[in-house]
Amino acid sequence: MNILFFGPNGSGKGTQGRILKDKYNTPHIESGAIFRENISNGTELGSKAKEYIDKGDLVPDEITIPMILDRLQRDDCKNGWLLDGFPRNKVQAEKLDESLKKAGITLDIVVEILLDREIAKNRIMGRRLCENDNNHPNNIFIDAIKPDGDKCRVCGGALSARSDDQDEEAISKRHNIYYDDNTGTLASAYYFKGLAENEGQIKYIILDGKPGVKQVTEDLISKL
Ligand code: AMP
Repeated sequence: MNILFFGPNGSGKGTQGRILKDKYNTPHIESGAIFRENISNGTELGSKAKEYIDKGDLVPDEITIPMILDRLQRDDCKNGWLLDGFPRNKVQAEKLDESLKKAGITLDIVVEILLDREIAKNRIMGRRLCENDNNHPNNIFIDAIKPDGDKCRVCGGALSARSDDQDEEAISKRHNIYYDDNTGTLASAYYFKGLAENEGQIKYIILDGKPGVKQVTEDLISKL
């Protein structure tokens, strides 16, 4: 299965993405996580990306597009992949489509999570990262996944917040990019929605991101 996942930052995209990753046993490729890994490993790519990420800007396409297209060519992607955080603008969508068609790879599923901007912003500001596993969900504003004091609710690890999650200006910039249906991320989701309508082989699934994690998961599973 080859899957694309869209949703504003704070919509639970990462959490729901992991459900699909486990169901279809695909690698979960998160562009933001690749950048963060490079930043913590002190690579050249990481230091280039950091200046954009901290401001809430997109890392330039010349860096991001080859990084993701190369990643999709690795062995672990031979039987499918789940892409999360890419494409983020229309140019990336067109390049991805072009490169998949060239390689004879079909896209199977596109998921779009709907969530309004104000709710997404509060969720972002409340989320905390566990030192042991970034996939442990912790959010100080969501009862179901509230940390255990200042420790991870899953493993008791120390928690921290992403610096770009605490900066309202950076969040607003990231959301401006996401909700832009002209050239931004929604434009790239709608690009694939158009392909789903015209070419027929892509299943385009829309989820309401407002309810709790469990309900969104149930909705996702029922629509697959
Ligand atoms: P995320 O973890 O998806 O919120 O991404 C964190 C940051 O990484 C974003 O705010 C961007 O600065 C950068 N980033 C992630 N994915 C992309 C992308 N597809 N194109 C450009 N920049 C990206």
